[in-house]
Amino acid sequence: MTYQPTIGLEIHIELNTKSKMFCSCSNNPDERNPNVNICPICTAQPGTLPVINEEAVRKVIKTGLSLNCQIPEFSKFDRKNYFYPDLPKGYQISQLYEPLCKNGYLKLKETKRIRIREIHLEEDTGRLIHEKDYSLVDFNRAGVPLMELVTEPDIASAKEARQFAQDLHLIMHYLDVSDADMEKGQMRVEINLSISKSKELGTKTEIKNLNSFRSVERAADYEIKRQTELLDKGEKIIQETRGWDDLKGITVSQREKESAHDYRYFSEPDLPPLHFTADFIDKIRSEIPELPQQRKERFIKDYGLDEKNVDVLVYDKNLGEYFEAVAKGLSFDLIKSAADFLINTEIKNYNIPSENFSQMITLIKDGKISKTTAKEILPEITTKQPSEVIKERGLEQMSGEGDLEKIIKEVISQNPKAMEDYKKGKTNVLQFLAGQVMAKSKGRANPKLVGDILQKFLS
Ligand code: ADP
Ligand code: ZN
Ligand code: MG
Repeated sequence: MTYQPTIGLEIHIELNTKSKMFCSCSNNPDERNPNVNICPICTAQPGTLPVINEEAVRKVIKTGLSLNCQIPEFSKFDRKNYFYPDLPKGYQISQLYEPLCKNGYLKLKETKRIRIREIHLEEDTGRLIHEKDYSLVDFNRAGVPLMELVTEPDIASAKEARQFAQDLHLIMHYLDVSDADMEKGQMRVEINLSISKSKELGTKTEIKNLNSFRSVERAADYEIKRQTELLDKGEKIIQETRGWDDLKGITVSQREKESAHDYRYFSEPDLPPLHFTADFIDKIRSEIPELPQQRKERFIKDYGLDEKNVDVLVYDKNLGEYFEAVAKGLSFDLIKSAADFLINTEIKNYNIPSENFSQMITLIKDGKISKTTAKEILPEITTKQPSEVIKERGLEQMSGEGDLEKIIKEVISQNPKAMEDYKKGKTNVLQFLAGQVMAKSKGRANPKLVGDILQKFLS
C-alpha cells in the first residue's frame, strides 16, 4: 500500500478595506514610498489605543457566510505576544479563542467538501528589507487587516490543494473582500502536510513562502515525495517549518515548531468584545453576490454553454458580467456564438457597449459582415454602432452574386496555371483561388459563397 497524503491549509489574506485594522491610516498595498501610511497607533507609540475597523469585520463575516461557516454571536480579539522588528507593539492583535467564523466548508468541483475550521481576523506586520550590512523597515503594511482561514486536513493531493487556493482566490474577487494577488503577498498560503498508510495521521510539516498557485502544487508534490523517501528508509518525520525554494524546486528546513504557549496569548484589554445581532448578520448575508460555482451552474443551464467556455467566463468576473449583458440583446441561438467570440478575441481591452457587441454578433449571423471584418471594427464600435461603421466604410459583406462573380472571373483569368492544375485534378488550387478572392474583396466576400461560385465556374 502506498502512503496517503493529508493536507491542511492556513491561508492569510489581506483585506481591501479603505483604512487599516485599528487606525484610520490608508490601506494602500500599492504605495511605493515607505512609511507614509503610518500614525502613532500603527507604529505603537505609548498611550495610543486601537479602534476596530467595522468594514474589516463585515468582510470576514461575508467571507465566512459564503463559505458556509457559522458566525458565533460573540467574538473577541486576543494578543499574540512575540518580538520581531516588523511588529512595533511587541504583540499582534489576533483571535485565538473566539474567531469570527467557524465550521464551514468549500466544495471542490461539486464532488468534495473541504471543511473550514475557522476564519479569524488579525493585523499584518510591517515589512523588513534586508540589505547587505543593514535592514530597513517599512510600516505601511503594519496594521493592515489580515484574515486567516484554516482548513481541516481534508485535502488529499497537491492538485486539490492548488484547486482549493484557486477557488478561494476567485471567491475573494466575487466578494470584493481582497485583490488576493499572490505575487504581491496579498494571499499567502501555508501547507501542512503529512503522509500515512493508516487512518491515523502522520507527523506533519508546514511549508511557507508559496507565492503562486503553481508553487503550492509543486511544493506539496515535492514534500509528499520527500516524506515518502524518509519513511521508506525507516527514518522519522520531524515536525518543523520548511520554506519553499522555487528556483531549486525543493523545501528546506527553517525551524522546528514552536508551541502555542510561547505566544502568551490573552484577551486584548484595549478592545471591547463583539456581540452580533441577527439583523447585523442578515444584512451582510443579503450583500453576498452570486458566487462562482452558482454562476457556473446557471450559465450551463440557462445558456447551454459547454463547461470549458463557462470556466473562462466565470474565471473573469467582469467578462462573465459583460457576456450576460451581451446575451440579453441576442436570441438564444446566437448566445453561444457570442460566448465563442468573446473568449477568442480577448475583448477586455475594449470598452464596447454591450448592445453594439450584440448587434455585431447578429450582423455576422445574418451574413452582413464576416468574422474578420467584425474583429477589424472592434475598436470603432466602442463609440459607434456596428451597422453605422460598416456603412461608412463600405465594409458590408458581398453576398450579391454580381459583385462576387466579377472578382472571381478576374482572379481566374489572372491565374491560368491554377486553372490548368485544377483540370489535371489538383483540387487544392480551389483553396488558393478562394484565398485570392477573399484578399481582393478585402475580407468582405462571404467565404461559403466564394467556394460555391468558384466550383461552378471551374467545372
Ligand atoms: P498546529 O497546532 O501544529 O498549528 P493545528 O491543529 O492548528 O496544528 O493545524 C494547523 C493546520 O494543519 C490545519 O490546517 C490542519 O488541518 C492541518 N493539520 C493538522 N494535523 C495535520 C496532519 N497530521 N497532517 C496534515 N495536516 C494537518
Ligand atoms: Zn495608522
Ligand atoms: Mg496552528
